[in-house]
Amino acid sequence: MHGINCIGILTSGGDAPGMNAAIRAITRTALYNGFEVKAIYRGYKGLLTGEIKPFRSDDVSNIIQLGGTILKTARSKEFQTYEGRQKAYENMMREGIDALVVIGGDGSLAGAREFAAEFDIPIVGLPGTIDNDLSGTDTTIGYDTALNTIMEAVDKIRDTAMSHERLFFIEVMGRSAGFLALNGAVATGAEAAIIPEIATEVDQLAELIQNGFKKSKSSSIVLVAESELTGGAMGLAARVKEEYPEYDERVTILGHIQRGGSPTAADRILATRMGEAAVNALIEGQRNVMIGVKNGDMVYVPFSKAIRDDKPINRDLLQTVKMLSI
Ligand code: ATP
Repeated sequence: MHGINCIGILTSGGDAPGMNAAIRAITRTALYNGFEVKAIYRGYKGLLTGEIKPFRSDDVSNIIQLGGTILKTARSKEFQTYEGRQKAYENMMREGIDALVVIGGDGSLAGAREFAAEFDIPIVGLPGTIDNDLSGTDTTIGYDTALNTIMEAVDKIRDTAMSHERLFFIEVMGRSAGFLALNGAVATGAEAAIIPEIATEVDQLAELIQNGFKKSKSSSIVLVAESELTGGAMGLAARVKEEYPEYDERVTILGHIQRGGSPTAADRILATRMGEAAVNALIEGQRNVMIGVKNGDMVYVPFSKAIRDDKPINRDLLQTVKMLSI
């Protein structure tokens, strides 16, 4: 027996398109199975301040198509202390919440792991982050939408890049992971992706220049992950100005536009399946696992594995980008 009557839901860390579709699926699957549902606003912060409200089916009507999160999100320093988590636990007990579904990125799931271990609460996580940097899952909620937003933006920049025969560094999100930069480069036919995963192995900018920027082309587009390791688009442009002054370079930082917008069909479907799987996991007595997707199937990934900072990037794609940029 799972011994659960009431499931709490929260979204934490950076928002990602598809979080609302997940909230809808969790709420309705839980209600369908006879659970009470309570929504916790502003992530762990709301658990500490008691911003908690019972949810009915109509509380999640008309949200599947919305970006962002109707539950809001926040970062909480207090939750990172034991005293903070104890207060959160007391609020949970007061509200009669006996299991949690946490939708967020690696920080949020690291918090969930600590909380579950200290207070013996069943918690299931959903990977909600545009960065796709959680291990044990092929993709995360929000990643596909962000990739499509990047693609549309780069297509527009290409028009001006071609007209002026310029070299453009376009910075995309992904502090520790180059999935958006690399797959964005493939999807837009960019000349290169400069990503943190290989930043310490090769000087990607020098390699790019040596391979001959432009070649037969009238413009060049390079996607750069916003990492300290890559130097970001500004850092690379400064280097080009100094070391290769013959190039007319420009920088575009896509920024928060990448987080917004209506989720793609792929993200809505993923979030819906994962939301349903999260409630099923609790019914089965699972705890301290993140729902992942592997080869199309829903899987349970222990938190400790999900937050390991070692999700492999497909290096063959770097070669593909290089080869196709001749
Ligand atoms: P994104 O990947 O989009 O940045 P995230 O979930 O990684 O999302 P974070 O800001 O890293 O975002 O984490 C969200 C919140 O999770 C933090 O504000 C904090 O309250 C909590 N948290 C993060 N790490 C821990 C930890 N080690 N212990 C307890 N709580 C944590």
